[in-house]
Amino acid sequence: MPNLILLKDIIIAIDGHSGCGKSTTAKGVARELEYAYVDSGAMYRAVTLYFIENNIDLEDDDEVKKALKKIILSFSFSKEKGFSEIILNGQNVEEQIRTMDVSKMVSKVSSIVAVRHQMVAQQRLMGKQKKIVMDGRDIGSNVFPKAELKFYFTANIEVRVERRMKELEAKGINANFEEVKANLLSRDKLDQSRKENPLIKSIDAKVMDTSFLTIEEQIRIVKKEALQIINSK
Ligand code: C5P
Repeated sequence: MPNLILLKDIIIAIDGHSGCGKSTTAKGVARELEYAYVDSGAMYRAVTLYFIENNIDLEDDDEVKKALKKIILSFSFSKEKGFSEIILNGQNVEEQIRTMDVSKMVSKVSSIVAVRHQMVAQQRLMGKQKKIVMDGRDIGSNVFPKAELKFYFTANIEVRVERRMKELEAKGINANFEEVKANLLSRDKLDQSRKENPLIKSIDAKVMDTSFLTIEEQIRIVKKEALQIINSK
C-alpha cells in the first residue's frame, strides 16, 4: 500500500488595523503555500472608487443599491507582481484605490449594510474551495467564522504610519505623516464602532504584534501554524 498523505485544505483569516502588515504577510503565505490570496480591503476600496467617480449619494439607500448592481469585482493574477490585482468592471484599479481620496471615504462606505452584504457574499464564494488566505477586518469574525486558522495583527501607531507612508511613497504618492496618522486613527474608530461586522478580535484568533517583526518573520509564524493544521489528520 502506498503511503497516502492527505493534506487538509484550510482557510486562513488575517484581521487587524491598517498598516499592521496583514496584506504583505498574507501575500507571502499564499505564495509559499500555493494558496489564493484575497485582499478584502481592496474590494471595499473599489466600491468606494466607483461611488466617488459616479457621485453616489451615500445617504440615499436606493441610489447606493442601484450603484451596487452595476459593480462587478474580480481579481486578476499579475505574474510580474506575484499577487492578484483588483478589477472593477473590467478595469484594473489597483493603483487608483490606494489614493488618499479613497482612503478618506472607504470606512464610511464599508459601514453601509448593503455594501457589506454584497462584499461578504462574494468573499464567501471565493472561499468555497478553501486554500485561501484572506485579510481584512471581519474575515475571522464574520466572513469565515469557521476558518481553520485566524490571526489578529496589531502594531503601534507610529510604526503603522511609517509603513503606510512607505507604501504611498513607493507608488509616487506624496504623503504627510500627520495626514496619514489622522486617516488611520479615524478609520480605526469607524471600523471598530460600526454596527455591521465591526473590527473585533475573534476569541479563537492568535494575536500577533508586528511592531518589531520583519515581514519574513511574520510569514514564517503564520506559515508554521498553517502547516501544522494542513498536515494534521
Ligand atoms: O485593508 P485596507 O486598509 O485596504 O481596508 C480599507 C478599508 O476597508 C478599511 O479601513 C475598512 O473600512 C474596510 N474593510 C472592511 N472590512 C474588511 C476589509 C476592509 O470594512 N473585511
